[in-house]
Amino acid sequence: MNLRVFDDGNHDGNDFEDDGVEDANFDAGVLGNGAFGDGEFGNGDFEDDGEGLVLYPDAHWMTRALEQALEAERAEEVPVGAIIVRDNQIIAAARNERESLKDPTAHAEMIAITQAAAAMEDWRLEECTMFVTLEPCLMCAGAILQSRIPRVVFGARDPKGGAVESLYTVLQDPRLNHRCEVISGIMAEPCGQILTEFFSNRRGKK
Ligand SMILES: [Zn+2]
Repeated sequence: MNLRVFDDGNHDGNDFEDDGVEDANFDAGVLGNGAFGDGEFGNGDFEDDGEGLVLYPDAHWMTRALEQALEAERAEEVPVGAIIVRDNQIIAAARNERESLKDPTAHAEMIAITQAAAAMEDWRLEECTMFVTLEPCLMCAGAILQSRIPRVVFGARDPKGGAVESLYTVLQDPRLNHRCEVISGIMAEPCGQILTEFFSNRRGKK
């Protein structure tokens, strides 16, 4: 069967429509419950339905975060991008600006949170989802908790600084009074590759 994305922002079983053709590999029920966020797929973010590439909802939004990361790369910043989505609309889109702002807190997630809070006219970003190309660091994970974002989707893991899965699990620590759903590994390959290339190019220049 072929699954098409319904971007209603709810990310539930209604995110897909089934064309009625049975296929042992896919089940709309499984797709609708976030099973594809287990990080075990890369190219599985896409499916070719014969008429073109169809993106799963989280992967669709991750491409928008990736656009921000590409913009960071063009500005010679470490290429990380983040967007915040509410009601199926992007309310914040930001990229890492640490170099240009000369600000160690100018990570994509921090800027996106500030933008989203301004758009909402509220510091509580309830009912929002953050999509970020790289696993958030300790600072950003802290800001995510402070803003009460209930859901974070990230692309590549950061084994050296990640505070969501790799080094710490800050967003799901039972000792804290806010926890958030984490989906990892969405488009991990392109999200990670842009970073790998950035650092290898930079080493090449020196
Ligand atoms: Zn950060």
